[in-house]
Amino acid sequence: MNTTPRQQQFASDNLAGMCPSAAHWFNVANASGHVPAYGEDEWTQQVCARMRELFQTDCDVYFVFNGTAANSLALASLCQSYHSVICSDVAHIETDECGGPEFFSNGSKLLVAPSASGPHAGKLTPEAIEHLASKRRDLHFPKPKVISLTQSTELGTVYSVEEVRAISAMAKRHQLRLHMDGARFANAVAHLGCHPSDITWRSGVDVLCFGGTKNGLPIGEAVVFFDRRLSEDFAYRVKQAGQLASKMRFISAPWLGLINDDVWLDNARHANAMAQRLYQGLSALPLIELLGAPQANAVFAKLPSAVAADMRARGWRFYDFIADGGVRLMCAWDTEAATVDAFVSDMATCCTSAAG
Ligand SMILES: *Cc1c(COP(=O)(O)O)cnc(C)c1O
Repeated sequence: MNTTPRQQQFASDNLAGMCPSAAHWFNVANASGHVPAYGEDEWTQQVCARMRELFQTDCDVYFVFNGTAANSLALASLCQSYHSVICSDVAHIETDECGGPEFFSNGSKLLVAPSASGPHAGKLTPEAIEHLASKRRDLHFPKPKVISLTQSTELGTVYSVEEVRAISAMAKRHQLRLHMDGARFANAVAHLGCHPSDITWRSGVDVLCFGGTKNGLPIGEAVVFFDRRLSEDFAYRVKQAGQLASKMRFISAPWLGLINDDVWLDNARHANAMAQRLYQGLSALPLIELLGAPQANAVFAKLPSAVAADMRARGWRFYDFIADGGVRLMCAWDTEAATVDAFVSDMATCCTSAAG
């Protein structure tokens, strides 16, 4: 059956399909016939070895179906039920995981810090962490145990290497563990141009949830333990949570398509570049207020509600994200320049009719 691809959209970077190299390895794994299940297969072993090469360290790697499970199970492995996790008030673990981290940790509390604003939107600061980590030290309040950073953040900003180090120093001072929600880790590395180890274990990150889905995989995220003592019994958590894929090779093998030849970075660079193109295009339009130059693959803008409604009537899909007419526009690994240009052109038309 021939199907015409649907119009590309900016609603989310998980609207895109899988990239050709991930699809290639998915098919190669399928062509290998009967192979051992539950991660005992050669593909899973190979990807774990490649991950260790990529990060230049002897890390423990696990695969789960999605980011909510990756974050929830990683945090549960760092916390007891009487502990707490310091995160930003816009963190995915706080706003979009239906209480998964609290549930899987049997009740660990999330302590949220007001997200910074302006160029640091979405980020935690060492000062905010210090405040939350020290304001209560009595046993009537859950004991702070973990800091969770999102890299790149939910508001499209990227922590610099220095910022991760400063937060890590604060973590050490308060004996906190450091977790990184890397659903868009690739976009952060592409933006910074650093080595992936620079913003993870070399800067004190204990566990990384390494996102593959938004970077071009069909499905699946990797949980990477840099402190291997923390992964003790993690396989049992994964199984109990219903996250152990029996045909694990179909989650793991496509990672070869991302890691080989640094496709993951090419995919992220492309998505980031499309966000820059979108930002440039929209910045020329009246009535559109852009919120900060993009660092990763997201553009945030405020539009008059008439313009947003008109754009939606023309078939464009995007999410209201922040209050007062703010929308989020996400670019994916396959977003075409022509899609960006068509969106900007429609936006120009909508602005003109709204102004007239
Ligand atoms: C997309 C995303 C996740 C993962 O979400 P799932 O829908 O559970 O796969 C986690 N963290 C952030 C910041 C995300 O944007």
